[in-house]
Amino acid sequence: MCGIFGVHGHPDAVHLTHLGLYSLQHRGQESFGIVALDGEGTAQAIRSMGLVSDMPAPTTHGPIALGHTRYSTAGSSTIENAQPVLVRSRGGHISLAHNGNLTNAAELRIALEEEGSIFASTMDSEVIVHRLARSTAEAPIERLAEALQGVDGAYSLVVALGGTLLAARDPRGWRPLVMGRLDDAVLFASETCALDIVGATLDREVEPGELIAIGADGIVHSSFPLERKVLHRCVFEHVYFARPDSHVFGGSVDRARRALGRRLAVEHPAPSADLVFSVPDSSNSAALGFAETSGLPYELALIRNHYVGRTFIQPTQAGRDAKVKVKYNPVREVLDGKRVVMVDDSIVRGTTTRGLVALIRGAGAREVHMRVSSPPITGPCYYGIDTPNRDELIAAQLSIPEIAGHLGVDSLGYISLEGMLSSVPGGPEGFCHACFSGDYPTPPPADPDKLRLGCGC
Ligand code: AMP
Repeated sequence: MCGIFGVHGHPDAVHLTHLGLYSLQHRGQESFGIVALDGEGTAQAIRSMGLVSDMPAPTTHGPIALGHTRYSTAGSSTIENAQPVLVRSRGGHISLAHNGNLTNAAELRIALEEEGSIFASTMDSEVIVHRLARSTAEAPIERLAEALQGVDGAYSLVVALGGTLLAARDPRGWRPLVMGRLDDAVLFASETCALDIVGATLDREVEPGELIAIGADGIVHSSFPLERKVLHRCVFEHVYFARPDSHVFGGSVDRARRALGRRLAVEHPAPSADLVFSVPDSSNSAALGFAETSGLPYELALIRNHYVGRTFIQPTQAGRDAKVKVKYNPVREVLDGKRVVMVDDSIVRGTTTRGLVALIRGAGAREVHMRVSSPPITGPCYYGIDTPNRDELIAAQLSIPEIAGHLGVDSLGYISLEGMLSSVPGGPEGFCHACFSGDYPTPPPADPDKLRLGCGC
């Protein structure tokens, strides 16, 4: 998964982008980058592995800037795959920041390579850069439209072509993208929290299938040149990925998660429990919703070390196991002798959860009732969430009672698919739930493993 950011028409565009990336750090922690353009032929890129805070504030200037935070699968965690991409081609610079996974990138790449294209990375996103370079269309928005014809899968993009900043969202609208304003500048960001940090106001969402261009005159041009598709916004953005202080897909993530927690409490009450707590931070709001409906006190039973990243970021299983203890510590005073409800937003491999249950019991909890604010994850995501292959997904291998046994909990309840979809703002229609339901809106990528190594953004 990734976070993207773009600014057009601000003397401090680079500084704003740097700040914006701080707020998009949760969307990608492997590498990040900023590209600054002056619109007159000069461009500079800074890319680095690690966290945005690891790098001093960039000193580059330019009224146009693009930013990217990246989070991918193991094989592609390299500096070559850090974005934004920056290349020089016949019409000037092309720069691109991408969030999502293209499902036909392998085929498109083979076709380009057969015609002589040379790729500098293993990213699916580079396919779009090559197609942009080949387009013969005059206007930047038409070049982007031409480049995106026949590209399938998930993409929210911020692109610079010379002095024009463009944004695009795939016709199914898988990944979020919003447009904001600050003085005369126009900004784009994956989430509204990145507009908040720079003091910009939210203008609107970039619509599914919409292409937007802002040229030297600062006027916003919009077009819908791509074939319309059925809306498939990623429900997991509301469940887990986005920040609760953001609005995504036009709805508050905090409100979505609280509603999920309330629904979970109705579907799977835990009447014998003494208290409820969350696995911080992504399930805090859902646990609050659960507490509200169940009438149980909400307690802080697990303390999270905020200097440790998301556990999945560790490419190896051994690394992930060690990180559970590094990342969480239970509060014995809260747990000792208690019957507790532990709310988490999802169970993927079961590794973190199993480790946590052992910690909770070790701190004296008498009963552990696990409640999950998303349904069992039974399939991989081909559209940009970094879920593992099916054989590593615990719910693809075991039944719910077997999972409960494996985790060591007294009871286990997952929200239903219908319950989840009717709890999120704008639901129940228009969401992708393929990883829960197996209802994939595209054919699986030709070679998922190859593709997933390629991007996983
Ligand atoms: P596990 O117990 O190994 O299944 O991990 C579950 C934890 O991982 C939950 O606390 C989730 O919040 C978190 N999680 C879910 N999906 C992802 C993801 N795609 N990347 C990183 N962490 C995730």
